[in-house]
Amino acid sequence: MGSIIARRILGLFVVAFIAAPAFAQQARQPSSSTSSLFSESAAKILQRAYGQSETSYLLVDANSGALLTAHWENPDKPIPLGSLVKPFTALAYAESHNFQFPTYACKGKANGCWQDQPHGELNLTAAISLSCNAYFLQLAAHVPAERLISIADSFGLNVPNENATPANLIGLGDQWQIAPLRMARAYLELIRRKHAPGVGPIIEGMRQSALQGTGAAVGRQLKHSALTKTGTAPCTHSRWAPADGFTLALVPAEKPEILLLIRMHSVTGAKAAETAGRMLRDMEE
Ligand SMILES: [Zn+2]
Repeated sequence: MGSIIARRILGLFVVAFIAAPAFAQQARQPSSSTSSLFSESAAKILQRAYGQSETSYLLVDANSGALLTAHWENPDKPIPLGSLVKPFTALAYAESHNFQFPTYACKGKANGCWQDQPHGELNLTAAISLSCNAYFLQLAAHVPAERLISIADSFGLNVPNENATPANLIGLGDQWQIAPLRMARAYLELIRRKHAPGVGPIIEGMRQSALQGTGAAVGRQLKHSALTKTGTAPCTHSRWAPADGFTLALVPAEKPEILLLIRMHSVTGAKAAETAGRMLRDMEE
């Protein structure tokens, strides 16, 4: 137990050390010098068209991590973000298994997938693209808690509750709550580490998601390529719904300039991707 606490404290120092220069830069320079002209005009378009909408959004400059615009009450407050956690659980698995991802079978609802129909045999890339719960439940069962905590710390994410189950580690339930702005910046860090062991198959899964997976509604609407990850999580609005849908998108896929994270009340993540795609299309034009 002592060693877990020590590692967490060490992890926090590492995060503070890594994060400090970026935050300092952000504080020193106004947004005009930390963001491109493209991302600045994108922010204006988003504000004008969606500033009054029910959809929550964060738009982040993918190079500097600067928040360009936000329409999200309290983006620093941890909430359940559903399958947006999957890439980080995958990395925790990779770090403890020689950076080799397994192949697992999805039998649909029969082994815990959100989809009735089986996804069949999947590798990690396909499982990210389709956000297959059956694959990830099997993967998460082999993720050591300590490794997950160190990954969460190194990406600046809030850590799961101590009694979190494998289901919680793939984004089911509410035992792993993360501040949306932290999640957005963790994905920027993931992109920054794209050549690190284990990261490539995850990013490829996000690219395929935007083409033919749960984020396909984003790819369909854009001229640019995109990286996407969707999530569906218990609703945290005062007006109750069965779930909220999340979509995180990075555009363009090859060298992201902007990151958009949206939350929609009472829909699935795949459905939220339609709105995220529309917002990105508006910014693209
Ligand atoms: Zn599945």
